[in-house]
Amino acid sequence: VKSLAKKQAGLANKTAHAAVIGAGIMGGGIAYQSASKKVPVVMKDIAPQAIELGLSEASKLLQKQLERGRITADKMAGVLNSITPSLSYEAIRDCDVVVEAVVENPKVKATVLAEVEQHVSDDTIITSNTSTISINQLAKTLRKPERFCGMHFFNPVHRMPLVEVIKSEVTSDETVATVVSYATQMGKTAIVVNDCPGFFVNRVLFPYFAGFCQLVADGADYTMIDKVMEKVFGWPMGPAYLLDVVGIDTAHHAQQVMADGFPERMAVSYEDAIHKLFSTGKFGQKTGSGFYCYS
Ligand code: NAD
Repeated sequence: VKSLAKKQAGLANKTAHAAVIGAGIMGGGIAYQSASKKVPVVMKDIAPQAIELGLSEASKLLQKQLERGRITADKMAGVLNSITPSLSYEAIRDCDVVVEAVVENPKVKATVLAEVEQHVSDDTIITSNTSTISINQLAKTLRKPERFCGMHFFNPVHRMPLVEVIKSEVTSDETVATVVSYATQMGKTAIVVNDCPGFFVNRVLFPYFAGFCQLVADGADYTMIDKVMEKVFGWPMGPAYLLDVVGIDTAHHAQQVMADGFPERMAVSYEDAIHKLFSTGKFGQKTGSGFYCYS
């Protein structure tokens, strides 16, 4: 990673202004992270309430830091002022990098990417935070696909250090270099990967979840598995709790994408614990129950 970053450093342009399209869990988090690392950002959504929520989440994170004495009130105000909320594309015109973070729907993303392309200059780099949609497929919807790549953050954005930078077959080296540089400006560690189902992280994570689900189907107690992985093996959390945090619906969708991409290795059985929870509407922390109960 380091040598690639070094090689590409000469091609990188520093990001002075960024934009995030979508102010949800991820878009709001990306906007906060960018602003708190001194890269002013436009946060655009179609829903005023999503923008309000994005700003209030950023405010809460800053308030916590203020209470802990890590930042001053001036710094807090400065960070909040450098997030420009917007319901229109006009505000993104002068941005160097745009991160698309709208709902995980290929049609909606294609429409949004085309709209973005109409409103920015030819030099603007355009990225998508998609978790599961092929970057090559999204690239085909753009007029200038060489300035496009994946920029995959993890939830919660302010705590998770990794960003996957996913190249399509036609992404230019300059695009990759600029996106790696922007991730670094945001205090993140970028890894550059080729496009494939699951990119890098889900290709590692989902075989682990599959092993976990097989153990549960064989009769193992998932609370014991979590205890062992967390308390004895030393990981921050076990697989069942992690799945509840990620969201069973999100995991179920990603699992399906992995099964379609690698049918011989990642096929899902109806006995699978993720599948069973999904079909009963237990999506984890977001619905109050999943492997565990949160009420
Ligand atoms: P979310 O539902 O919280 O937010 C999506 C936002 O997009 C909403 O605020 C919605 O109003 C907005 N939106 C919808 N259509 C729009 C449009 N045409 N223009 C502008 N805004 C529009 O979703 P999320 O969890 O933040 O996920 C966003 C993206 O990030 C998805 O592609 C998802 O796969 C990816 N992702 C999610 C996670 C996660 O854990 N939630 C992690 C990594 C990546």
